[in-house]
Amino acid sequence: MRLYLLYLGTMQPGEVPVPGYLIQTADGINILVDTGWPRSFVDHPQNPPGLSIEIRPEDTVTARLAAIGLQPSDIGIVVCTHLDDDHCGNHDLFGSAEFVVQREHYELAKSGHPRFAANRAAWDHPSLRYRLIEGDVELVPGVTLLKTSGHVPGHQSVLVRLPVTGAVVLAADAVMHSSMADAATRELFITDMDDETGIRQSTRKLSELAKNEDAAFIVYGHDAGQWASLRQSPDFYA
Ligand SMILES: [Zn+2]
Repeated sequence: MRLYLLYLGTMQPGEVPVPGYLIQTADGINILVDTGWPRSFVDHPQNPPGLSIEIRPEDTVTARLAAIGLQPSDIGIVVCTHLDDDHCGNHDLFGSAEFVVQREHYELAKSGHPRFAANRAAWDHPSLRYRLIEGDVELVPGVTLLKTSGHVPGHQSVLVRLPVTGAVVLAADAVMHSSMADAATRELFITDMDDETGIRQSTRKLSELAKNEDAAFIVYGHDAGQWASLRQSPDFYA
């Protein structure tokens, strides 16, 4: 099994990375985790107030996949951590995949919550097949999805057990930065929904899991300093 860290763009100031991830199983299943901002942002970024989004053509999810020899039709499963627009902007490109999302999150977004409306055309495309799950689920041997509500209801993180590296936890936006890794003292972030208890519980869940699994590392969701230190695609962790 291999884990590729896909760099899908930057938010300025601060060189804040927007990542996606590709997990390739030994028997050839390609599992993509998140799809980044909408590809239209390459030419027409929709900048939040005070922020500037930068996506070069080589940062699109299709370009990152092409660089390791894959096309969208090669992706069998898309794991959707949540439906914020930096995570689900290109779901509509993966019509041959099964999308796996927490039921609680999908139903909140589907009900018309305004936070998830901007990019609805991409994630609620009629060609997409969703599998709705509840709680922690082993997706395939060695890959477990972890419900980590708090940032948004029904957010999910991913545990990958790699043969050489060992366990790696993809926290996504449950823990965006290493400075937020301590459940008791961590700060909340401006984009966290109002669920301090859930945020602290999910942060604790991931740090305890990492300890129990003797994890090699946790990948934080948007941590520029950590990102620069990690092996990025086309390099990979095995
Ligand atoms: Zn995010």
